[in-house]
Amino acid sequence: MVAGSRARWVRAAVPARKGSIVTVISEDDVRARVRALIADVDANDRVAFRGTQFDRGLAWVHFPEGRGGLGLSPKMQTVVAAELQNAARVYDDIALNPIGIGMAAPLLVTYGSDEMLDRFLRRIFTGEDIWCQLFSEPGAGSDVASLATRAVRDGDEWIVNGQKVWTTLGHVSNFGLLAARTDPDQPKHKGMSYFVVDMHEAGVEVRPLFQITGEAEFNEVFFTDARVRHEYMLGQEGDGWNVAVATLMNERVALGGGVRSRGSGPIEVVLEAWRDNQHLHGPAMRDRVAQLWIRSEVLRFTNQRARTVAKAGTPGPEGSIGKLLSAELNKDIGECALDVLGAAGMLHPAGYPMDRPSHAGLDARDPYRMFLRMRAQSIEGGTSEVMRNILGERVLGLPKEPATDRDLAWSKVPRNG
Ligand SMILES: Cc1cc2nc3c(=O)[nH]c(=O)nc-3n(C[C@H](O)[C@H](O)[C@H](O)COP(=O)(O)OP(=O)(O)OC[C@H]3O[C@@H](n4cnc5c(N)ncnc54)[C@H](O)[C@@H]3O)c2cc1C
Repeated sequence: MVAGSRARWVRAAVPARKGSIVTVISEDDVRARVRALIADVDANDRVAFRGTQFDRGLAWVHFPEGRGGLGLSPKMQTVVAAELQNAARVYDDIALNPIGIGMAAPLLVTYGSDEMLDRFLRRIFTGEDIWCQLFSEPGAGSDVASLATRAVRDGDEWIVNGQKVWTTLGHVSNFGLLAARTDPDQPKHKGMSYFVVDMHEAGVEVRPLFQITGEAEFNEVFFTDARVRHEYMLGQEGDGWNVAVATLMNERVALGGGVRSRGSGPIEVVLEAWRDNQHLHGPAMRDRVAQLWIRSEVLRFTNQRARTVAKAGTPGPEGSIGKLLSAELNKDIGECALDVLGAAGMLHPAGYPMDRPSHAGLDARDPYRMFLRMRAQSIEGGTSEVMRNILGERVLGLPKEPATDRDLAWSKVPRNG
């Protein structure tokens, strides 16, 4: 263990068994472990580097030992993130495997069996298994609880039929998080169940949907008599809504920017553009860039604070604050980045390929692409309007929106088609 005047002692969050030694790991010790990782493994070899990071408990320090963590406070992940900036190659977790790392991993730690944890966690972190989220449907977006995809039990399996839409990275995913209706005679929030689905199973068809950037980052997914293992149900039968809410809360924390080091992420793109083009501008633009820097810092600290209250599995509705702030901030950053380029900002660079990226564009590094991609941030993972509703109702305690279908059986709710 490394001693030092700046050492802050953090008691492991994992409860000690009677008679066992409580592990105490300091901030400096965590730093030393990250440095050792960087020294021991070539960061350019993603799978080897991140696999070792997982094995040494530095993937998610707040997860249990043996599951990619050290049982520490989640805020210690900021220490890991800062130190990892010194590696030869820096990976953005959310860009690498946004749904796997941002949503599936915390969900599995909360609801998954040991077999699932053994099979999935490490490969999620290394990016060997990309995951997708199968919630939205043509008739169920903001009101995802009204979804219509059906799962019917058949022995040790479920047979799934229906359609999902806007499935980010469905075309490169090995596994998906599926919310489906298992009892249509229950009210919409009660008759849902939640599954891990193998995307290579027969009866799962993925078709591209192109977006404003010219890329097909997301997809339509059709289920036709696709089979899902019963043991891959997360939570109890009929309890899918609670698991879905846990997923969405983790999604909002992930989309809210997660744990970043100072000056990294979208603001870095503006700063780079500013360094090269400041001669084109006067004090007004300097102020605008400075304001965005300040808002980015406020967001970063807000996310850090949210981390300190988050449990290893499910964050609270406060995650919606980061999601709302980052969606609106990143759109402003995208616009400013183009303005900083001056007249050049009006020209989209040659080539507007309709392609199928292997990762989500949340880490867009060029201002043009960032401007276009950031438009989606106030829609994906719940719109900004819906975030405001959640904050109003669940954080501020304001009266709920009227809901006439809450107690009605899902099958009795009038709907189109
Ligand atoms: C880039 C991108 C990636 C996505 N990836 C995925 C994915 O991987 N998996 C997945 O399942 N889904 C994904 N989505 C879908 C996303 O979650 C939905 O688009 C979103 O929840 C909104 O649903 P909707 O599009 O059906 O809009 P609607 O719910 O129809 O909303 C339309 C408009 O009405 C407003 N509105 C709706 N309800 C209310 C209300 N109660 N109060 C006030 N205003 C309201 C909304 O804010 C919006 O402006 C993705 C979307 C985008 C843009």
